[in-house]
Amino acid sequence: MVCSGKSVCEGSIKTPARRPLDWKNPGFRDEGMLFHELERVFDICYGCRRCLNLCNAFPTLVELVDESTTMELNGVAKQDYWKVVDNCYLCELCYATKCPYIPPHERNVDFPQLMLRAKAFNYSKRGAGFRDRLLASPDRIGRLATIPMVGRMINAAGNSHTLRSVLHLHPDAVLPVYRRDTLRKRRRDLVSSPFVTKSGDAGVVLFSTCYGNFNEPDLGEDLCAIFEHNATPVALAEKEHCCGMPKLELGDLDAVEKAKEANIPALAGWVDKGWSIVAPLPTCVLMFKQWLPLMFPDDPLVRKVRAAVFDPFEYLVLRKREGRLKTDFKHPLGVVSYHLPCHLRVQNAGMDTSDILSLIPGTHVEVIANCTGHDGSYAVKSEHYNKSMELARPVVDRVRQVIPDHYSSDCPMAGRQIEHGLANGSRVEHPLALLRKAYGI
Ligand code: SF4
Ligand code: SF4
Repeated sequence: MVCSGKSVCEGSIKTPARRPLDWKNPGFRDEGMLFHELERVFDICYGCRRCLNLCNAFPTLVELVDESTTMELNGVAKQDYWKVVDNCYLCELCYATKCPYIPPHERNVDFPQLMLRAKAFNYSKRGAGFRDRLLASPDRIGRLATIPMVGRMINAAGNSHTLRSVLHLHPDAVLPVYRRDTLRKRRRDLVSSPFVTKSGDAGVVLFSTCYGNFNEPDLGEDLCAIFEHNATPVALAEKEHCCGMPKLELGDLDAVEKAKEANIPALAGWVDKGWSIVAPLPTCVLMFKQWLPLMFPDDPLVRKVRAAVFDPFEYLVLRKREGRLKTDFKHPLGVVSYHLPCHLRVQNAGMDTSDILSLIPGTHVEVIANCTGHDGSYAVKSEHYNKSMELARPVVDRVRQVIPDHYSSDCPMAGRQIEHGLANGSRVEHPLALLRKAYGI
């Protein structure tokens, strides 16, 4: 079919052009305008159905329509639209991998942005409950947990059935353990303000991330060991705040702006001195690469950081292209089941980890690209836990079939989800841990 401009084309042959998030416009949080747009897009999605297997948002929409009295969207109570919104955790896969109607297509569907708009409306009208505010504050909990005794109490509280029941956290969900020996404490030797290392060269400034700092500090230590082995100086910024992603998912966009103001000027200062930025969590990199630029398209510092931030393996691939990646591997890894997280897929940095691990002699990497349905908070909520485990099942089953020597994911939370699904006593190993192991360092 030729697109005349009058009829609706099936797909777009034009380059995708994502629209900035117009979140400061009063219309963004206008209830009537929001519901008009939800109705328009839900109607398109109900007819299209390409995304049915991605998450539980689309099956929820289809079920609502099919069970309505009219079997059309007009039979669905507006109040029930929130059930769809609640099941979206902004993984972005629908936008990045499936949708033929993204801008500049005349249908102009950007499902994740619309879900974010709905979440922002909801947050501005009703705020958020205690549990959701708690889950969106990993940095606060992390800082508290570094106080002697408090950390033990926080971890014990996470294991208390009573507390989980009160907070509506699923009894079987895996909650992150908070550590007192954080990455920034372990590697305080890297905290640097004059932008120089002993060698005087610029290198990478490690944005440790809340999870990497407070929950799994080994991640950052592995990263430092690998980069230092490759003669790349690593530094830690003097201060670091949460990237803002948990607040974004809550719809608290003002808090995202505060996080941006706390992080971006300091990171841009490093970029000015020739440093790049790496972070061990794809989600936090995505925040700097995508969501902040969409929210603050005219901020030159946001643009500067966006151009200089990398996932660790993305950076290592660039070094390899320049002939500066050491390949003095000492230990083969055998078969590695590698899960490619959604937040890497949507950055188009997809195969970098697999490409680097495949350089190790005696290593075969099996890539699994399905979503594990974790999202940091979706998987621990009582109302979503079962669905999240269902979403993870194809990944878990694939790992079970392959019987690998190691299984791995760049997203440590997705990795824990796979480990939880396998429930066989095996342990997930992050790709950075595997690479370090292969180097024998
Ligand atoms: S962004 Fe992810 S979770 Fe949200 S609707 Fe799209 S695929 Fe589902
Ligand atoms: S987001 Fe796009 S591809 Fe997915 S169901 Fe809606 S219209 Fe179809």
